[in-house]
Amino acid sequence: MSTTQTDDLLNIITPAKIDWQTDDTGNMVPVSGEFGDVYFSHADGLAESRHVFLTHNQLPERLAKLASNQCFTIAELGFGTGLNFLATWQLWRQLRNTYPQLASSRLHFITTEIHPIPLADLRHILTLWGQRAPELTECIEPLLIAYPPLIAGCHRLNFFADNLTLDMWFGDATESLTKLLSNKSTEPTPYVDAWFLDGFAPSCNSTLWAENIFAQIQRLSRPSTTAATYSSAGVVKRALKTHGFEINKVKGFGRKREMLTAVMTDATFSDGSEYDGDNLPTHSIVIGAGVSGLLTTWSLANRGTQVTLLDKSAPLAGASGNPRALLAPKMTPIHHVDEHLHTIGYLYSSRLYRQLNDMAEQAKTPPVLELTGALDLLIKANIGPEQIIDYPNEMATTLSSGQAQEISGLKEQDISKNLYLSQSGLVNPQALKQIVLMHPLIRFQQLEVDSINETENQVCIAGYCQDRSELAITADNVVICAAFESHQLDNRIFDCRKIRGQLSWFTPTPEQLAHLPKIPLKYSGYCTPFTPQMDDGQLNPIVASQPQFLLGASFIRNDTDTRIRLEEHQISHDKLISAIPELSAIIPADISSWQGRAGVRTQTPDYHPIVGRLADSNRMWVMSAMGAKGYALAPICAEALTDMMMGTFAPLSAAMLARLSPSRTRLQTPLV
Ligand code: SAM
Repeated sequence: MSTTQTDDLLNIITPAKIDWQTDDTGNMVPVSGEFGDVYFSHADGLAESRHVFLTHNQLPERLAKLASNQCFTIAELGFGTGLNFLATWQLWRQLRNTYPQLASSRLHFITTEIHPIPLADLRHILTLWGQRAPELTECIEPLLIAYPPLIAGCHRLNFFADNLTLDMWFGDATESLTKLLSNKSTEPTPYVDAWFLDGFAPSCNSTLWAENIFAQIQRLSRPSTTAATYSSAGVVKRALKTHGFEINKVKGFGRKREMLTAVMTDATFSDGSEYDGDNLPTHSIVIGAGVSGLLTTWSLANRGTQVTLLDKSAPLAGASGNPRALLAPKMTPIHHVDEHLHTIGYLYSSRLYRQLNDMAEQAKTPPVLELTGALDLLIKANIGPEQIIDYPNEMATTLSSGQAQEISGLKEQDISKNLYLSQSGLVNPQALKQIVLMHPLIRFQQLEVDSINETENQVCIAGYCQDRSELAITADNVVICAAFESHQLDNRIFDCRKIRGQLSWFTPTPEQLAHLPKIPLKYSGYCTPFTPQMDDGQLNPIVASQPQFLLGASFIRNDTDTRIRLEEHQISHDKLISAIPELSAIIPADISSWQGRAGVRTQTPDYHPIVGRLADSNRMWVMSAMGAKGYALAPICAEALTDMMMGTFAPLSAAMLARLSPSRTRLQTPLV
């Protein structure tokens, strides 16, 4: 078995090996080392891409006709250099500038890639394209900034300003397509509008033209779905015909005589009517303004839905309102990384928060994510340095003892066994809240919800405002994001385990600060220094302008009391000292002046969150039970939930969505 085959089985991504050749006009063009074929035409790759995939899927006409809020989905076999994607993005931008009604329409581009190109090579390739086709440059840089680490699974890249979502599924295309959920028995059902069949020539890349891939293409299409390919090989023609497409031979690009276009005519969909955007929700209500509610609101608003966010208290008044949350990967053996919610969620959150940092900079508000890096001392970890070797270094690596001491500030501890998580950082919940609530489609309303009434056409929520006046609001649908109180709002939602957690922090003296750890450390708990930002005081008693040191967190089952307890400061203090004894000389023994915040975490028996539609309901949804991992899990779960609500493809596999379902078997038996 070749290394690549072994790696595939282990779910390890083998990056593309790029060779270079000179094309017809003297430009350097990349060639695949694995397949020995060109990524794009030697005549003019960009012109070929536009001719084959854009023109012959009639994208200019079809995209221009989208209704407001309507989403158009393209799926591609073989992302390669991203040239097709960039050409499509540039067309989309042009059309949005020309047709005002496209302001709220969306483009969803789903792509697959077995050997993704390493970032440095991609930068090289696309820089050359930027010089040849300056109209692409505005799209190249954001793509490079968002380009994910080469880890198997789905990576969602949202380009909010252009209403564009790119889902990159790293791994074999057939497997990836098989994971897309398109359940024709539930409405609205996702489907692909246009296929870009762009494998290497069938003679050197048979997997992308195999029977099982066409079976997936058929499954994910519906009448009027189109496909285009530069190839006119007999095997391609036959496969398209066998799988419900009517094919048409047209003039190929440049010297190529023929290429194929195809239209799906096999009506496997019971209802052939077009979605025109009319049946999409225009107003949603989200109940609960913690991290789940804020992120759900954000995802829905970015699809053009007006959102009313309700909470009986202020936003972030509950367990999500800590001064800082540590965002760090929870490493897992790589063979199941593509199905590991925490990894997918962590990578998406980290990408999103960095984008929000740009928005925060423009709005002159504090950054949402401070990239500090973090060091896991492997005191209570389920994985060691040997098992992370196959991960890209930016995800996790092991530092030498000297480097680890240098970076952490620890001096005596043996930290030769460690994981350094260079892309980790501290999330500032208050800063996140500020950016979310600035969105023009989001409105916060304080309301203690008293009743929820779903009818055929709408949902009506009634309750009491702060001044006890009554208020009723109607919407197309409702998402309950009320953590441990969700069950009280709708008893179809599992009554979860409730876990009290208290975070502690204090103001170190300059002398103490100089000797405390310099970055977040993970042991059986975690500790970190942090610098207060403006408005931190809105959520927590924090001495502004003085550096703080934070320790977390206690973990007390079946306790919903949220008063601060001195004994839990002590537990966090002792946990830190026992993990890192040298800090006993630095951390003050007197904890009486420590500050804290206690919240109630919500957890299911299988530890997975609850995300999806409520049983026997058309308009009621839930997103809850994030445990202590809300800042890593909520952004991707909110995207998946919004996709289910809108009838678009989620960035999580069908198996993962089943594991999150509010109706899953594990949630059928109440806790004792
Ligand atoms: N669309 C690309 C572009 O715009 O640069 C060019 C695609 S190139 C002709 C074909 C791509 O398919 C390569 O990047 C290759 O690694 C990928 N590929 C080949 N077999 C695959 C498979 N089984 N699953 C996913 N991707 C595959």
